[in-house]
This record gives sequence, structure tokens and C-alpha cells, in this order.
Amino acid sequence: MNSRALAVVGGRVLTPFREIREGTVLVQDGRIEGVGAAHEVDIPADAERVRANGCTVVPGFVDIHVHGGAGVDFMDASAKALDIACAFHAKGGTTSLLATLRTGPVADIVHALGVLREAVGRTRAGADIAGVHIEGPYFAPAEAGAQPPDAMKAPDPAEWSRMLDFADIVRRMSVAPELPRALELGRELVARGIVASIGHTAATFEDVIAAVEAGYTHATHIYSSMSGLRRVRAFRILGVIEATLLLDELSAEMIADGRHLPPSLIRLIIKAKGLDRLCICTDAVRVAGFPPGEHTWAGRTVLVEDEVAKLPDRSFFAGSIATMDRCVRTMVQEVGLPLQEAIKLATINPARFMRLDSDRGSLVSGKRADLILLDQVLAVRMTIVGGRVVYDRNIAPATKNLLCREVGGSRSRRYRHRFFSLESRRVSGVGECQPELTPAGARRWMDVEEHFCQ
Ligand SMILES: [Zn+2]
Repeated sequence: MNSRALAVVGGRVLTPFREIREGTVLVQDGRIEGVGAAHEVDIPADAERVRANGCTVVPGFVDIHVHGGAGVDFMDASAKALDIACAFHAKGGTTSLLATLRTGPVADIVHALGVLREAVGRTRAGADIAGVHIEGPYFAPAEAGAQPPDAMKAPDPAEWSRMLDFADIVRRMSVAPELPRALELGRELVARGIVASIGHTAATFEDVIAAVEAGYTHATHIYSSMSGLRRVRAFRILGVIEATLLLDELSAEMIADGRHLPPSLIRLIIKAKGLDRLCICTDAVRVAGFPPGEHTWAGRTVLVEDEVAKLPDRSFFAGSIATMDRCVRTMVQEVGLPLQEAIKLATINPARFMRLDSDRGSLVSGKRADLILLDQVLAVRMTIVGGRVVYDRNIAPATKNLLCREVGGSRSRRYRHRFFSLESRRVSGVGECQPELTPAGARRWMDVEEHFCQ
């Protein structure tokens, strides 16, 4: 195919290995064709130009731990839900994500995998689903966090093989390595090219060493739902936190919403672990994008308060409500990291840890054309996925922070929607949605963000 080229010009470019003060990124047929100073990149005469003056052009963010947002969860297992979550996160600068499936009955996980198999690499509405992260059910109930402890169990080969039948789309699985047969599962994951990750675990330091020897290479959300130093009689026993900080064999991700890990703790992690073995993720859940208050789905209630999701009794965080741009702002504005380093933690590092870096995570000729424009306060101005502009703040409708609810449809496929303000929590008007984005027959709150309605 030969589509019209797209040239992003006039902005500061962070590849992120180098800075180009006034750089050009040329995109053709979904791939990066050239990156360099203005005089180094020849722009075809008929190319479409995007002026990035005053903006920083960086690779699109790679979120390797995200459950959903804008009212949907990847466990909802519908194509529409996937589109909504991917569009929501694209607005926060994410261009690639690992759709993360939380702990639940294996039949539910397998069902969701079936739906995701149709979507991986094919989403059109926003961020590209680069693969799946199965987060559970082989976890330690003592470190359940906000995941349901009742569904947690020891690994069982007959059962895990049903999930690993989807090895073509599964990129990563999180497992508590101290459980019986968890090392065998780790070796099985490695054999199938899946990243084995340590998570929701009460393991000791020695358990982690055994896990590393079995092929585990990553630690799931450091400091969240993992054991730390404890004392047994007079002796100090190291946990997963210390093992993760100490062992170069393990990479780790930090939930960087500024709530799960206070900025000083992030500084400590960076000091101990170094920037090359760390990345940031959102761990965003269904209520990402929602206002403060209690929200209930399928009998499960989540509280949004202090810009984070909590269990209703406030005993645990229930995931974040962040998008990746907020995580990058946390790293720069609260942790004090230079922007170029923060961008690495959000792009090439997570891509490398999930072995996606041959095609993603940096602005290099030949890679996928996944890039974003950040303004001076590090808010996303534009998101380009596979060479397509999927989000442009300047042409998004003026109606901000709206949910909409279908109140009636007709055979002409023009649907009337009631707009619901996330800020005032009141119905603020009635209008029409773009018909192609309206699910036929829907009669409920659609849980979509404003750009689906105008
Ligand atoms: Zn998670």
C-alpha cells in the first residue's frame, strides 16, 4: 500500500536516546521513514504536515499493565469494550498496551483470551493491543491486594495449558513463584516465549532466586502485593521487594500515579535499581476517567477518592485511575526525573522488558509509527498509532468530561444521547452521537468518554 506520508515538523524530538531540538519525524505506510534535524529528512511534496512547534515529540507510551478504563475492563470480553478502553488510553498517550486480565475463574480468563485473539494488533480506535498480560490466578492469597483471594490457587498444568493455548497473544503472565509447581509453570512460559513475571507473592529471597533460575525475569508492580523484609525470631528474612531491588536479572514496573508509591519511595527504588531495569505502568482499572465517589459493576464496588481507586473499606488501593501521561508527569514534576529519562521509563524500557522493542518503544526508522506530541505541561496534544492520528486535542469536541446515555434510537441510526457531566454528576444536555459509534440496541449508560459524543 502507498498512503500519503505524514511529517511531524518543528518540535523538539526525544527518540528517546537523543534529543533533536527542531526535528522531523516522517511517517509512511504506518512506519517511521526518517527521524532527524529538519535538513536531514526529505519530506515528499504531497506529505501531510503536522506542526509540533512548542511541543515535544516522543515515542507513544507502552503500558504493560492496564486493566481498562472509561467504564470497561478487558475481562468484559467484547470488541466494543476493547475499543473504548484503547481509545481512552490513547488520549493519555498510550500507543501500545498489554491488555491485563485480572484473577478470576479460568473459564472467564479463557473466554476473554478468545475475544482478545481477534483484537490483538487489529484495534483501530486507539492504542494497539500488543498482547495480553494474565495477572493471576496463581497468586498468594496473603498478597491478594484488591484481587479476589477466593479465586487464587496453586498452578495446575491441566488448567494452565488452556490459557497457554493462547501463547500467540499472551506476552506475560504474573505468578507467585513460591506456590507448588510455579517453577515448572515458569519454565513452560519461557518455552512458549511468554515473559514470566513475579507478582502478588509472599516469596522469600531464596524463592525468588529459584524463580530467576527457572526463567522469571520481571517483577509485577514493585512494592504492591509483594513480601518485604520480615523477622523470624532473631533472623531477618528478605522478601520479594529486596530481591527485586538487588537482582539485575529482574526488571520491574512501578505504578506511577503518585499514589501507589509516594515520590520519595520512587526515588529510593530508582536509586537502588537504576533506570535501565525499571519502567512505569498505570495498572488502570475500569473507573479510570471517572469522578470521585462509589461506582458499582456486577456487584463489585470501587471507590474513587484521592485520585486513586480503592476498595470500599479503604483497606487497599484497587488499581489506579491514571493514564500514562499522568505517570510521566508524576516522574518529572513530583519525583524530579529529567523528561528524557521519564520517557524511557514509559517507552523503550517497558517495550524491552516485554520483548516488543524490535518494533516499538523508540523513534527509529523502520519501527511502527507510534508517536505522540506533548505540550509544555506534558499533556497529550496528539496521538499517532501505526501512522494514523487517533487523537487530536485540537479537533476533539469542546464538550469535556462527559459520559453519555442513549435515550432513544431510530431506524435511521441517529441516536439521541443525554450528556452526563463527570464534574457536576448531572445531566447537562441532550444531543446526538455519531451513529457509527453507537452500539445498536444499547439501553444503558454507555460508559464512554466525551469524544464518542458531540
Ligand atoms: Zn493489575
